[in-house]
Amino acid sequence: MFSGLFLPPFFAVLSTEQQGMLVELPNILFMLVIVLSHFFKQGRSGFAALLMLVAYNVIQQRLQTPLAVGSTLFEYYFLVLLLPANLVLLLFLPERALFSFKALSYHAIFIVQIAVFYWFIQPEQLPLVSNLLTAIEPWILVSGDVSVLPNILLGLLICAVLIAAILMLFREVSSDQAFLSALLASTLTVVEFEQQWISASMFTISAIVLLFSILKRSHEQAFIDELTRIPGRRALNIELAQLSGKYSIAMLDIDRFKKFNDTYGHDIGDSVLKMVASQLATVKGRGRVFRYGGEEFTILFKGKSALDCIGYLNDIRLLVADYPFQIRQPVERREPQEAGAKNTDSCQVEFIEKTVKVTISIGVAQRRSSTTSPDEVIIAADKLLYKAKESGRNQVCA
Ligand code: GH3
Ligand code: MG
Ligand code: MG
Repeated sequence: MFSGLFLPPFFAVLSTEQQGMLVELPNILFMLVIVLSHFFKQGRSGFAALLMLVAYNVIQQRLQTPLAVGSTLFEYYFLVLLLPANLVLLLFLPERALFSFKALSYHAIFIVQIAVFYWFIQPEQLPLVSNLLTAIEPWILVSGDVSVLPNILLGLLICAVLIAAILMLFREVSSDQAFLSALLASTLTVVEFEQQWISASMFTISAIVLLFSILKRSHEQAFIDELTRIPGRRALNIELAQLSGKYSIAMLDIDRFKKFNDTYGHDIGDSVLKMVASQLATVKGRGRVFRYGGEEFTILFKGKSALDCIGYLNDIRLLVADYPFQIRQPVERREPQEAGAKNTDSCQVEFIEKTVKVTISIGVAQRRSSTTSPDEVIIAADKLLYKAKESGRNQVCA
């Protein structure tokens, strides 16, 4: 509908060679996605790209004739049904590297479909295909017009898009957004199939989104700490290497965290780390928070002296200390034994909720002169951190 307004005029001004390049663009981009997905171990996106690549070539090689001619309509329906179905199936399958033994079953499903398609498009199957189309016509064609996508197929496409959208909202799988875009691109393509440039443009957009999704996820894998979801040590080191001018660095450490782990377990310790990271992330003064390692964090303040930062650091120290961290702890309760009964060792496990206080100590130092290196500032901040610990914890030393 709306694409008809701008696509053909835009493409019409291009030379024949430029138009030819645009038609090839999705092929190049999807192949790039496939190669990158292998190296970045993101098979799901790789398979999506493979599906889109094959679908795009089916459209370019087989579906450029009017739909009513030969088996074209049948091939079109085949594509409309199977491309979204496969994309949705992939959303529910576990991540597998594209070129691996574990992914053989995925390839098998894919190859069977291509074989069935190939069998149907042989010229000798044309009578069978015509009979099939005549048989399903009253079911799916409302007005007898083959150029309009049947409601039933449109309904299935919308369902596929909805499933992807719901999954994207309720689970944290970064490739879901790219799948949603691939499904939307496929939907727009088949709905606006009569538009000349629709497949080249939609599949290009989908390939670009897949490419960005892979790059974004590999960037996250390299720089974002998996547990706390804030930048990790590698990101900090890159920032430190590029520092210049005035800046301050704060080192933060959770108080008596080892005892906390020993008392409540490592999982609850992990939850504390996540809670602390989320509170630290709210720091004002344009401070940037990193997980330094273990239960230690670093905050970088560019353009600020240590004195400037004390207020911001005290705010987050109080935020953490006032956070009502809830713990659900199991307690064993022995049932009183009845007189004369054997010792059956009946004990019940009950849970009690309790709120614990988590505190942090902070040391902050600034760059003294142009010869001071970031490492020296960190060492100074670390010394102040230990001073804060020695002076009773839950405080900021500058
Ligand atoms: P202090 O107040 O002097 O800092 O005492 P502390 O117990 O916090 O210091 P210490 O350095 O002795 O203990 C740090 C503990 O942090 C040890 C380790 O078990 C725990 N820890 C480090 N990384 C993680 C993690 O990723 N998850 C959990 N749950 N614990 C961690
Ligand atoms: Mg420590
Ligand atoms: Mg500690």
